[in-house]
Amino acid sequence: MPGSSLDALIDALRRLPGIGVKSAQRLAFHLLQHDRDGAQRLATALQSACVSVRHCERCHTFTEAPVCDICLDPQRDTRLLCVVETPADQAALERTGSYRGLYFVLMGRISPLDGVGTREIGVAELLRRATDGATEEVIIATSFTAEGEATAHVLAEALKSRGLKATRLARGVPIGSELEYVDLGTIAHALSDRR
Ligand code: ZN
Repeated sequence: MPGSSLDALIDALRRLPGIGVKSAQRLAFHLLQHDRDGAQRLATALQSACVSVRHCERCHTFTEAPVCDICLDPQRDTRLLCVVETPADQAALERTGSYRGLYFVLMGRISPLDGVGTREIGVAELLRRATDGATEEVIIATSFTAEGEATAHVLAEALKSRGLKATRLARGVPIGSELEYVDLGTIAHALSDRR
């Protein structure tokens, strides 16, 4: 039955990262067969998140207000700006409790094969944000994957050419890892050991 609602649902689920056609089918069957309430809740939550969640005007993280709570917090150290790839990485750094500066959330990392370059991840916006006069140090906390390292290099060059101090999280975070999956102690250590 091509073009059915079920096919459309499976197709939509397949777009999620890490979900192949088999998993998408399993999820769709589960929701429709065993959890209609859950399916309805999921639909409503998605709908409302798509309407109300936006990007912070200053740091680009997710927020429901024009500017997020962290950017508005007067206790944060405005001299420090930490650059991460995703809101999930930002959340990981926040959980360490050892960073009191501000953030800038990129839209991912540079990946030429996927057509993702400096424009797509928001480097121009970062440079505008970092040259606000208050920022004294930009801490580059992109992942320790090949693409994250390449992104860090590009950012460091661009920041330095504008006379800004750029540091990188110290090694100790395992090579190839996404920040969001690294344990808190390791992140805290990499942060205090940055260079
Ligand atoms: Zn913000």
